[in-house]
This record gives sequence, C-alpha cells and structure tokens, in this order.
Amino acid sequence: MARIVMKFGGTSVADTGHIRAAADRVKRARDAGDEVAVVVSAMAGATNQLAAWVGEIGVLPAGSYDDIAADAADRESDVVVATGEQVTCGLMARALQALGLKSRSWLAWQLPIVSDDAHGKARIESIEAKDLLAALAHGEVPVVPGFQGVTRGGRLTTLGRGGSDTSAVALAATLRADRCDIYTDVDGVYTSDPRIVAKARKLDKITYEEMLEMASVGAKVLQTRSVELAMKQGVRLQVRSSFSDGPGTLVVDEDEIVEKAMVSGVAYSRDEAKITLSRVADRPGVAAAVFGPLADANVNVDVIVQNVSADGRTTDLTFTVVKADLDRAVAILEARRKELGFAGLIQDRNVVKVSVIGVGMRSHAGVAQRMFKALAEKGINIQAITTSEIKISVLIAEEYTELAVRALHSAYGLDAD
Ligand code: ADP
Ligand code: ASP
Ligand code: MG
Repeated sequence: MARIVMKFGGTSVADTGHIRAAADRVKRARDAGDEVAVVVSAMAGATNQLAAWVGEIGVLPAGSYDDIAADAADRESDVVVATGEQVTCGLMARALQALGLKSRSWLAWQLPIVSDDAHGKARIESIEAKDLLAALAHGEVPVVPGFQGVTRGGRLTTLGRGGSDTSAVALAATLRADRCDIYTDVDGVYTSDPRIVAKARKLDKITYEEMLEMASVGAKVLQTRSVELAMKQGVRLQVRSSFSDGPGTLVVDEDEIVEKAMVSGVAYSRDEAKITLSRVADRPGVAAAVFGPLADANVNVDVIVQNVSADGRTTDLTFTVVKADLDRAVAILEARRKELGFAGLIQDRNVVKVSVIGVGMRSHAGVAQRMFKALAEKGINIQAITTSEIKISVLIAEEYTELAVRALHSAYGLDAD
C-alpha cells in the first residue's frame, strides 16, 4: 500500500466526462489498496477566462502604481481566478462519490493551506494536515483545489500560473506521500515541447536540477516552484498521462541517472520582452539605480547584457522582463529618465528565449559552440546570451522560435529515430 497524491491538470478535468475518467483512475488506485489525496486544476481554459474578465473590468488608473491600490486590486483578482479550482474540486468529489468512494472537498481556507500575501504569485508556507490524515485513515479520498492558498489574515491567494503542480507537491510533502503523480496531456517530460518538436523523445528519468532549469526557462509541463519544492523536500515526482497508462517520467536525483547526455532538453519562453537603455552613464552604482526600483516594484529581470563603453562615459544596457511587466517597467524607468541619465529606451516584445539544458554540460566541452553554430547555420541572429552551470540561453527574434528549437534539438542528437 502506498500513499499517493494524484494531481489532474486542466485538460484532465476539461469537462465532466474527463472528470469522471480521472475519478475512475483514482478508484483504480484505491481498489489496488493505495491511499489517495487528489489535487485538481481548473478546467482547461477556465483560468484564462477568469483572468480575462478581471482584465475587462479595468486596470488601475493610468500612471497610478500606488502600492495600496495595486494590492487591493490583486486581492480581488485572486478571489476571481481561484474559483476555477473550486468548481472542479466539488465536481471531482461528487464524481468519486458516484463511483462509491468516500470523498469530500477541502478548500484552502478549510484546511488551511497558508500562503504569504504575494497575491497572484503567493508561496505556500504550510498546510495543516490534521483533517486530511483523519480522512485518509477513514478510507476517504480528500480532494483539494490546486493554485489557491489563504493568508494568515484570511484573504484568498493564488500561486501563479501552473500553480496546481506546486499545491500537489506541497501536499505530498505534508502528507509524507510515497509519490506525487502529475497527470497531464502528455505522457511525460520530453526532450522538448512535443507540440512544436515532432521528433521530441520522452525521457524515462530527468534530474531535479535539469527539470528545475527546464521549467524555469519555459517548459510549462511543471511549475518551477513545484520542482524546487520536490527537490528540497525529497518528494518523488512523476509526470504521466491522463489518457494512457504508461509509466511517465520520474524526476530523480542525479546519481540515479547513469548515462548523462551533453544536453537533455531544449526549451523556449515567449514570456519575455527586451528593454534597451542607450547611453547610460558608465559609473559605479548605475546598475543598482536601474534595477533597484524595478525590484522594489516586484518586476523580475532576467537576461542582462551591458556593453563596455566605447567612450568611457556611457554604455548600453539591455535586459529582459516578463512581458506582462513590460509596461510597468517602462513607466518606472521613464519616470527616472533624468536621474538615470539614459538617452533612449527601446522596448521589444518580439523576442523569445531559447535554452539548452543538461547536467552533462559540466563534463563536456563545446556545448555553447554547438548551439551558436546551429543557430548561425539557420541565419538566426543572437541578441543576448546567458549561461548557468547546466544551461545556456539565447535571446532571438520570436519568429524563429520553432526553427531554432528544432535545429538545436537535432544539433544535440536528441531527435527520435
Ligand atoms: P496541465 O494543464 O496538465 O497542467 P500544462 O499545459 O501545464 O498541463 O503542461 C503540459 C504541456 O506542457 C504539454 O501539453 C506540452 O505542450 C508542454 N510542454 C512544454 N515543454 C514540455 C516538455 N519538455 N515535455 C513535455 N511537455 C512539455
Ligand atoms: N488553473 C491554474 C492555471 O491555469 C493553475 C494550474 O492549472 O496549475 O494556471
Ligand atoms: Mg500545468
């Protein structure tokens, strides 16, 4: 007998038929003698619809980035977008009951699942396990909505897009589950997004570290924080299909993988936008002056490139921010144009970040060279480069996304036969 957390993503609960099929999967696990706690996402597309409605109501008055107003708006936004998971949570518990299982729903505030108050991107701080453990002991299947938390002050929060993965891992850690199974619309983690690389191969295993990098540079199959948490808490994480019975992909420690490929995956992110400040003063403290206010406003900066100055006085500074933060970032910088003393600000939404990831990079030489050569052969210009120990990312024009990802996939020998 094992204790399993089963998480069903949006496509796996897309309608009542899918919810019944997922419930059937839970029943099979129960019949095999396993204890099961279920985490559900909202129906596919539901969160987008809810977020769109929030957008239609309107944003803050132009030019007003008052912290209190922004916080108040974000709180109400969470109240709306968190409802998608409440719907599927109740429906799943009903579907399980219809199959003769004992089941009930537990919303975030009922347990509670306590998070910090960073609305829209909250972090889970703790989950009270008492009621869930009692339910499991009584042979019940508790169903918990993903994506939501509640602050100590009693306000509803959401964990950021894809956050149900993190809810599932946090629950698995709290319940000391033997496994956390993430059921989705692909049968595992692939060498690249199977939606754009037809020759992508399913990986039987991937290391936590690689999965963490893959997720953080755009592979949406798992939310980055869920991998981070699984790694830290030693949760056995598996990605598998809701639509077939294969074994999926296991996320494991590095020593469980014998053959280390030079590169294990290629990922891309269309979520970033590029800002270039031209002729910024080349003196100590400038980077701090530029990035400080952005950090204060919770704008994350990713790739940063600073040129050496030609005249010893000024230099160009290029960096990326999340597309959704671009307007805010530009407003913040423009408001400080005098103080920062830059000559021009160019913004560009037409970029994509393409990355290759692999723990094998530590022991192989020439990994970056192969990437640059493959892109050059396709005539793709690299606008910026950034690396970590097991990852190389480049910024290129968005229209080359598919071409670049496929070329790199081939260049590193990842194509399926
Ligand atoms: P869910 O709604 O179940 O959470 P997501 O859409 O969040 O599903 O994640 C699954 C999707 O992730 C797949 O449909 C696939 O297009 C995408 N994806 C991106 N990169 C990868 C990858 N390397 N391996 C598998 N899937 C990937
Ligand atoms: N429903 C949320 C989203 O679409 C959370 C999730 O599905 O993981 O991002
Ligand atoms: Mg997801």
